Amino acid sequence: MDRNSFLKWMAATPFLLAMTRLDEIMFFLHKGQKTEKMPALFMGHGSPMNAIEENEFVRGFRDMAKGIPTPKVILCISAHWYTRGTMVTGMEKPPTIHDFGGFPQALFDVQYPAPGSPELAVHVKEMMSPLSVHVSDEWGLDHGAWSVIKHMYPKADVPVIQMSIDQKLNPLQHFELGSKLKDLRNKGILIIGSGNIVHNLGMVDWANFNKDNHGFDWAIEARAEINKYIMDEYYQPLFEYNTHSKAFQNAIPTPDHFLPLMYVLGLKDKQDKITFYNDKLMAGSLSMTSVRVG
Ligand code: ZN
Repeated sequence: MDRNSFLKWMAATPFLLAMTRLDEIMFFLHKGQKTEKMPALFMGHGSPMNAIEENEFVRGFRDMAKGIPTPKVILCISAHWYTRGTMVTGMEKPPTIHDFGGFPQALFDVQYPAPGSPELAVHVKEMMSPLSVHVSDEWGLDHGAWSVIKHMYPKADVPVIQMSIDQKLNPLQHFELGSKLKDLRNKGILIIGSGNIVHNLGMVDWANFNKDNHGFDWAIEARAEINKYIMDEYYQPLFEYNTHSKAFQNAIPTPDHFLPLMYVLGLKDKQDKITFYNDKLMAGSLSMTSVRVG
């Protein structure tokens, strides 16, 4: 049976699909190879220009990829797919989406032609049950995904699917959705949450955009405090970020770039170590802080 016949067979036999476990699908797809447990990563993606610039942050993305097993598939939860309800991309060839304006043509010329994984999309849907997840053909890879992943896997030879962030859910609910996906880490699947923990575009200090590790007082305070809560695995203040402090309110004026972190923390097993990388502030009101779990 080839891949297309397999997909048609899956679509035609919903009762089988309901009974089929991910292990069996992965056996089919990967001939039963055992895989090392994958870490889960929160990546601070920052400016879309990171996609085409060379700097310490993109070196951080590259180094991270070199230090972990090559994934079978990547599942990316991007800040830039912020929707009503939860969706996953189900297409074989997800298009590269240039979801920004006012940048040089060179950035719009970037294509990241990684294949999708309709099989994994269907199984993420199953794993999230009873939450209803819609397998979508109407998105692709947005810059939250490709601006980071292109540095990690420049050959675009690792399939990528995206999952959206349901704007109706609160941080704890997003954390719990992340927990439901834990088993994927044992199947060679790399889960990336892509956003920025401190992310206030309205207060960007344009005059000092490239000044090293530059943060306003409230950004310095929020970054330090959030990092400590992550290390201590004390998440309650993160779940209540919008009432916690003025510094948190400045750091997280809208939840979209913060919520991908909740999925990554939800994917943590007890014995997993937490490490930070690219842990710097920039432009006064942004942090590039990235987190590796496991
Ligand atoms: Zn962004």
